[in-house]
Amino acid sequence: MFENLTDRLEAVFKKLRGHGVLTEEHIAEAMREVRMALLEADVNYQVARDFVDSVSAKALGREVSQKLSPGQQVIKIVRDELVELLGGSTEQIRFDGRQPVTIMMAGLQGSGKTTTAGKLAAQFKDSGRRPYLVPADIYRPAAIEQLQILGDRVGVPVHPSTADTKPVDICRRAVAAARENNYDTLIIDTAGRLHIDEQLMGELKEIQTAVDLSEILFVADAMTGQDAVTVADTFNKNLEITGVVLTKMEGDARGGAALSIKRVTGKPIMYVGTGEGLDALETFHPDRTASRILG
Ligand code: GDP
Repeated sequence: MFENLTDRLEAVFKKLRGHGVLTEEHIAEAMREVRMALLEADVNYQVARDFVDSVSAKALGREVSQKLSPGQQVIKIVRDELVELLGGSTEQIRFDGRQPVTIMMAGLQGSGKTTTAGKLAAQFKDSGRRPYLVPADIYRPAAIEQLQILGDRVGVPVHPSTADTKPVDICRRAVAAARENNYDTLIIDTAGRLHIDEQLMGELKEIQTAVDLSEILFVADAMTGQDAVTVADTFNKNLEITGVVLTKMEGDARGGAALSIKRVTGKPIMYVGTGEGLDALETFHPDRTASRILG
């Protein structure tokens, strides 16, 4: 992930550092190259344009320390802007006073919802919480069983959902069961489809209305690039998601989804999935990711 972008930006920065004095032309050329590098990393067109415009304006105004050389100043502006693009600060699940705190996973089929639900359950358990996994995908054969197996592996109880119960009723009952058994964190795994459809959105909205949700995490496969961003935008417009999980980030996806999703949806990336294993889930840190991208 990001390797090509890192190489491309490194080449731009090398040129910038080589100039003793930076002219407007130097900056304009560098910004053209940064824009190309972002587009090649599959960053949304408008996002890449806004990014470069913002860096250019600041670079020409030089809002930074005079202790740095002109080239270093521009590099610092790019870094700061990149951190902003990735979401600014680290955002985490709000464990507010709700009893239980309820998190709904949403996303297309195959994006990694069920796996991420298992990974989150393991992390919450490790941090001393009492999670409860709720399978609410009654359409895909074996979806309930898949979560049951994950729950067993991480030692987290799983709600005994049945495929003949409506998802919204499963969720209502799971909340009641959680209260009875003192489970403090519900993780609802919902159905996904290959494409967005009305029925799916209707079902998710029904759960949202019936259950007091603390978070709606949209799960996206980072390998799908701009598609992930478009789908996130649609889910957000329908449901007001609260955060994003990008899965398959260890692969050779170009990183465009990670770089565009916050700007397009306004919602932060909270976690990244970095493998199929149940420990392969990391909190997303915009500053560390920017540092990684800049090499
Ligand atoms: P769902 O249909 O959204 O519930 O998706 P699943 O959780 O069943 O995941 C679909 C596939 O993606 C499975 O083979 C998972 O093992 C895999 N997967 C999920 N998250 C990651 C990840 O972060 N990295 C990789 N490499 N594979 C993942």
